[in-house]
Amino acid sequence: MKFDLNSLVRVNVLKLKPYASARDEFKDFDADMVFLDANENPFENGVNRYPDPQQRSLKSILADVKGLNEACMLLGNGSDEVLDLIYRVFCRPSIDNIITLPPTYGMYNVLAETNDVENRKVLLSDDFQLEPSKILDAVDENTKLIFICSPNNPTGNSFASEAIEKILLEFKGVVVIDEAYIDFSNNPSWIHRLREFPNLIITQTLSKAYGLAGIRLGICYASKEIISVLNKIKPPYNVNELTQSRAKQRLIAHERVEQEVAKIIEERTKLITALSQVSFISTIYTSDANFVLVKVDDANKRYEELIAHGIVIRNRSTQPLCENTLRFTVGNPEENIKLINVLNELN
Ligand SMILES: *Cc1c(COP(=O)(O)O)cnc(C)c1O
Repeated sequence: MKFDLNSLVRVNVLKLKPYASARDEFKDFDADMVFLDANENPFENGVNRYPDPQQRSLKSILADVKGLNEACMLLGNGSDEVLDLIYRVFCRPSIDNIITLPPTYGMYNVLAETNDVENRKVLLSDDFQLEPSKILDAVDENTKLIFICSPNNPTGNSFASEAIEKILLEFKGVVVIDEAYIDFSNNPSWIHRLREFPNLIITQTLSKAYGLAGIRLGICYASKEIISVLNKIKPPYNVNELTQSRAKQRLIAHERVEQEVAKIIEERTKLITALSQVSFISTIYTSDANFVLVKVDDANKRYEELIAHGIVIRNRSTQPLCENTLRFTVGNPEENIKLINVLNELN
């Protein structure tokens, strides 16, 4: 099926003339210029200037790390902002719809409700896999987006690439693949296949593997055509200076991140082994992420018991297909030992 970006983007967005910030006009931020254009306080303190609205130096480092062109990237205040921009570019409130695949990340539904967009929920199979024909059956002429979270939160598994590929090939709207947990998985990122699929958007974040949840940096990768439409409605200064500089430091030292990820994966393996000894845990689901979902005898009871022992986890029991499930984030070695000891005490 032919992908026609202009027919999918909301007409008001297509027609919109973006806000031109003072700093958009100057590409060279380090140039020795006198900046009297933005009503800033001239006394230097490190953050008295507005940040680069296009985050050029950060994107150039990211481009090296990811092996992708800067024109295929948009950065946001967490992936949550990026996801919201995607809704607002494509979905006409109270007319269009999107498809999500529960059990999955809760923000897709919150953003659908915020933007007054119908969320068509197509459940995963019992073994938490995608069912492409069921998903494609839910599509109508106003279906703009399909959200695929892989590795999926809260189940932890990745989806078969053939199933994702079928959706990419047969859906004429936009497929958003949320790769928040991709660094913990052995599967390759879909960013390497962007060129094959003009209807593909991939989101990633520095909040999980990169250990920078506090700075809020989300990344969106897509064709340069999609990125330029998203850029039209992006708030000009959405990624602040402190975030840009901390993100750059961390990306430059990405070997450190890789070491931490390897350690977390090792801890995940140990945690899974230990969980398999806990009598009230009946299922441990496969994880490609930095958390493990388990099925227990009584999730509410076990959740309260853990709280009483000073351990906060996530009870996912209200999610479809997730009755009596708990989600444990992989902590540091001491935290994991504490969790295991408490679970064994409760046995
Ligand atoms: C944690 C998480 C994110 C991250 O969101 P940020 O706003 O970048 O912190 C995105 N998607 C999923 C599925 C997540 O679990």
